[in-house]
Amino acid sequence: MKYQKPKGTRDIFGRELQRTEAVCSTARLFFEQNGFEEIRTPTFEFAQLFDRSIGERTDIIEHEMYKFEINKKLYALRPEGTASVLRAFIENKLSLPARFFYIWSMYRREKPQKGRYREFLQIGIEILGEDKPFYDAEIIDQGKRFLNLIGAKDFTIEINSIGCPKCRAIYKNKLRDYLEPNFSNLCSNCQRRFERNFLRIFDCKNKTCQQIYTKAPKITDNLCAECLEHYLSVKKFLNKFGIDYTENRKLVRGLDYYTRTVVEFKQQSLGAQDTILAGGRYDLLMKELGGSDAPSTGWAMGVDRLLISMPENLPKIDEKKRFFIATIGERFINEMIELRDLIQQNNFICLMGNPEDSIKHQLKKANRAKADYSIIYGEDEAKNKVCTVKNMEIGDQKKIPIKDFKTFLRNTIK
Ligand code: ATP
Ligand code: MG
Repeated sequence: MKYQKPKGTRDIFGRELQRTEAVCSTARLFFEQNGFEEIRTPTFEFAQLFDRSIGERTDIIEHEMYKFEINKKLYALRPEGTASVLRAFIENKLSLPARFFYIWSMYRREKPQKGRYREFLQIGIEILGEDKPFYDAEIIDQGKRFLNLIGAKDFTIEINSIGCPKCRAIYKNKLRDYLEPNFSNLCSNCQRRFERNFLRIFDCKNKTCQQIYTKAPKITDNLCAECLEHYLSVKKFLNKFGIDYTENRKLVRGLDYYTRTVVEFKQQSLGAQDTILAGGRYDLLMKELGGSDAPSTGWAMGVDRLLISMPENLPKIDEKKRFFIATIGERFINEMIELRDLIQQNNFICLMGNPEDSIKHQLKKANRAKADYSIIYGEDEAKNKVCTVKNMEIGDQKKIPIKDFKTFLRNTIK
């Protein structure tokens, strides 16, 4: 029997894992510096939480969620982060305003393709309990600065406003009037979508549909006075932050909970799956989930997709030197442990050979472990209070007095 991983999942190791970790550790530092607090919630929740927040008629809920029933209770692996953050916020009676970030794997049963997996990693931020346009601009600025920090280039920022239930209700009738004569030409998906989740039609990839939508009235031109003022103010702050953006009046999001500002960061080089960061404002969700009236805003970034678009080397990856200690004879085990601790305290990687193996065997292991340096310690070294340091790349070796070893580590090894 040969075992294989489930479709749409990946094994991540070596360089790819280092790159992923470099992005995550930089995110931890950066978002903490910006006043966000890290949060972790369970990987699975009661399925209803997601049905309720994402919307029962969205692609995620209709086709993409991993659901399972145990003892008549229906659970789901989380397909996104915001619902869980809000559930945790309400359940733990935390106080407003609040700023959270998370780094979590998400699960969606989508058709796997480049940049689209069934398990994928997101970094997300949420600002809860702030309704002012400044915060819409702030989260966009946070996204941009973080991407700059890790060396991402050539991404574009698209924004739109999708209004509130009040302006949307009026707008829907207007859109219906426009679409009526063309309704039979729309793809069946759009016909269905219009009844269920009408803004989503703009997301359709079908050429005929897109031609029809190009001339359709847009929600952004039909905002109520409050939503319009909010949107103008978001743009004012984006300009003050010095952020280049384009307005995409067809930008709508796949989740039901968004109101007003929506945003996507796109990376053209990615082809079809080009969105690396997406989010927006969700003013009604906290209340919808049983919490207080807390207008909020946030986004999530697809780390896997981001890494595909990044240059091979992220500037932040710290290539640590690797040591391998080959001790000749188990009587030197204490010295071996002392050397190992010293090396590791100086932030290098250190492995140990089995002192009962021959030196030849241990050095072979050092090679296989891709050590940069081997430290040899045996009878001669003990007598002369030195250790032999072998540079595994060029093959030369020198003896370093034990008392100078620390200085040697600090000054010679970079
Ligand atoms: P898309 O239109 O690309 O499916 P979405 O609207 O479903 O995106 P969100 O739910 O807003 O995406 O998730 C935010 C980000 O998470 C996306 O912009 C993308 O970078 C990433 N993402 C979403 N789904 C996947 C997936 N299946 N595999 C990898 N990354 C994903
Ligand atoms: Mg999707």
